[in-house]
Order: sequence, then C-alpha cells, then structure tokens
Amino acid sequence: MKKNVQEVMSPPPPHMVGDGFRVHNYIPGLVSMPRMNPFIMMDYNSPHYFPPSETPPGVGVHPHRGFETVTIAYQGKVSHHDSAGNSGTIGEGEVQWMTAASGVLHKEYHEREFAKNGGVFQMVQLWVNLPAKDKMSPPRYQALTRADIQTVELESGNGKVEIIAGEFNGVKGPAKTFSPVTLMNAFLPENGTVSFTFPQHDHTAFVIISGKVKINATEIASANQLVIFHDDGEEISISAIEESVVLILNGEPIPEPIAAYGPFVMNTREEIIQAYQDFQLGKFGQLED
Ligand code: MN
Repeated sequence: MKKNVQEVMSPPPPHMVGDGFRVHNYIPGLVSMPRMNPFIMMDYNSPHYFPPSETPPGVGVHPHRGFETVTIAYQGKVSHHDSAGNSGTIGEGEVQWMTAASGVLHKEYHEREFAKNGGVFQMVQLWVNLPAKDKMSPPRYQALTRADIQTVELESGNGKVEIIAGEFNGVKGPAKTFSPVTLMNAFLPENGTVSFTFPQHDHTAFVIISGKVKINATEIASANQLVIFHDDGEEISISAIEESVVLILNGEPIPEPIAAYGPFVMNTREEIIQAYQDFQLGKFGQLED
C-alpha cells in the first residue's frame, strides 16, 4: 500500500537564530511536535550567503535537556562545543548528532575558516525526542563524517542514497539512536528514481534540499519545501524531474506526553521546572562563550 502525501509545504518566513543561522521553522511552526514525533523541531537554513567575518557567526552558550540535536550540513561548515567536553566541526554532507539527554550547555557557530571567507550556508537542524527512560542518561556526541556515512549506489544510473541513521537495502547508517529513526539523503540525477518502505504508523517527511521531484507519481515538490505523509501505507516512490537532493526522515512515534518549553523537552511540567532549576544551579556544567 502506498503512503500518500498529506501536504507539500513551502518554507515559512525565516528568522535568525543567533547571528549564524537564518532558518525556516517547519516544526513546530507549521507541523506540531506530536504530529512529527520523534522529530520535535526542524529548523531549515535554506541556501543563504553569509559575508566574510573574523568572528564566526552562530549561537552562544545555551542549555538543552531531554532530546538530541542533529545538524546536517549541506553547504558550509558548522562547529560545536559543549559542556560535556565534546567538540567538532562538520562539513558538506556530514552530521553532528549531539545527545543532550540529562543536560548540556553548548554553542554552535560557523567554522572559523568558512566564516573568514564567507559563503553560501545551507543546513538542517532537528531535535529528536528521547524516550522518558533515556531523557536523563549521560550526554553523548557523534560526529558523523564522510568516512562514517554509508552509501548505497542505485541501479542503472538512478543515483545514490546516503544513510545517516537506520537502514536501506540492508545497509545501516552509523548513528546510534535511542528509538527507531531513519535519516537519509537521496541524490538523484534527472529522471532518477528510488522507492522506500517504512512502517505504516511511523512519521515520515521529506525536505527537498535541491531540485524538483515527483512523489508517488502524482505530487510535485521543489527545493526548500517540506513534504509530510499520511500513515495510510508503507511505500513511497520518488522520481526526479531535475537533478535533486532529498532528505528523508522517518521515525517511530514515542507514545509519551510531550512537555516542551524553550530549550527543554520533557514529559511533564514538573520536569520542565526541574530543568530550569538545575540549569540555574549550574548542574549543566560550564562552558565559556
Ligand atoms: Mn542548540
């Protein structure tokens, strides 16, 4: 059975996160947290030119608790530092997978050399929810580089699929996750096609990173649009009208209440209040701006 398109959405007006991320907020702006759970936030920085800067633009020290932040770079380079002592830089086609869990302070900014030269920046940041039992586990950081990300070449010149998390055609992506999550990029030449099968009741979305595609032979989506799917089937097909890159997200919903406020996503209001108290008491550690 086909998994039908529910809606093709155009990006809402952008806003700045710090001075380094010019983002369209798809989740929870246009699509609610429960609707796309376990994907509870999606900021999409559509291609945007940042001028040369001696001070790397970005967002200063801030806390998170209760989920993971996943940053996928398409153009430009992103650096990260956190209070658990982890840091790293990712470039085009790479991913930072930061598990805040019990709590970290972190800062996110353009890599110094990229900032110095300026350039077009394009990335996706997701918040991936954690099951209640894992929300207070220790923080973790995964820098998923080109060497880690797995590639499946599609037959007869249809392009390729890069797997960040989950599995496609028997090939597993490198990301360690706490609940079933699939994150992949499909790179399709003009007329290239690929099909995916996901469990019917999972939450599924595409971001069209570039190009223009036909989905299930009927719906058309083009660069910077978000596509969300009904839970009425398992199979989705894509055919590229022009050379395209598509980010594919699929996740099993976590069947627990969501209490979200600012940088914290927990299960109850009491846990949110606790998070603010712990943050004010310095329990998230130390990090210099
Ligand atoms: Mn953050």
